[in-house]
Amino acid sequence: MVRRGERASEFELIARYFAPLASKAPLAYGLTDDAAVLRATAGHDLVLKTDTIVGGVHFLPGDPPQSVARKLLRVNLSDLAAKGAKPRVYLLNCSLPRDVEEGWIKAFAEGLAADQGEFGIVLVGGDTTATTGPTTLSATVIGDVPRGTMMRRKGARSGDGVWVSGNIGDAALGLRLLKGDDLGLNKSLAAQCIERYRLPQPRLALGSKLRGLAYACLDISDGVLADLGHMCDVSKVGAEISAEGIPLSAAAHRALAAGKVDISDLLTAGDDYELIFAVAAKDELKLSRVARSAGVKITKIGRIIRTRGIVVRGAHGEPMSFDRRGYQHF
Ligand SMILES: [Mg+2]
Repeated sequence: MVRRGERASEFELIARYFAPLASKAPLAYGLTDDAAVLRATAGHDLVLKTDTIVGGVHFLPGDPPQSVARKLLRVNLSDLAAKGAKPRVYLLNCSLPRDVEEGWIKAFAEGLAADQGEFGIVLVGGDTTATTGPTTLSATVIGDVPRGTMMRRKGARSGDGVWVSGNIGDAALGLRLLKGDDLGLNKSLAAQCIERYRLPQPRLALGSKLRGLAYACLDISDGVLADLGHMCDVSKVGAEISAEGIPLSAAAHRALAAGKVDISDLLTAGDDYELIFAVAAKDELKLSRVARSAGVKITKIGRIIRTRGIVVRGAHGEPMSFDRRGYQHF
């Protein structure tokens, strides 16, 4: 029982806000044990992913706690999508400032509950501590794939097409808007960009259908150039992409036309959480069928080449130069 004005203890917070999130996972024992059990499905591999987000780095202190919770889950789910995995359960570690308001935790748990429903996952464990630093939130999401079928970054081959899902760059515009930049956008376009920054859409349906079709796949978290670079580095190939071919929203077109951003800003900013993948030319028809059935737009932006490095070509085929590839943490 918490008296008025008194901070609930760690155990009270868990019982009140987190245990209900585990109620559909009988082997999580209501978060009253030290560990949970996860039974692997026969003929499947478990796919594990963990990601941390930090206040002031990955989300802004004023972001609604519900959307912080959902972004935390979604950046992890986006990686499972890129691996072709079906999400099952997650673990959650929260380091919260000592003076965090209980209302923040309540709203945060509401965000988790909303996405549990949307993506069919349940909480099975975690840890809550106080910190003298910024809010630091970490989720570990566990999914599965039929044995041996997880898509890797590695596997792109010279001649494959390079494809992306959705549109590129909107989240970066959203972040700039939240920081007070004027991008020449009307209210509704600005709101769409902010939504894309706060609430990424993990491409789970597309990812699971790409298994066996894409030779290499990852999600775009650090920017198209950086993440395509990661794919090419481990695949020991290069890529050539067309700046004109990058799929952009109406908002991004407007910001470009107004001279508020250039294409390099959109290709090197993070937070898209779209998939980027390599598919053999012979499988393109099958690929477009698969994307249609997943209800996701996909666009071919270039091709894999033998020569290492990423070349971006402008409207007249001229190579463009970039002073950076993408977001770097250090
Ligand atoms: Mg990733």
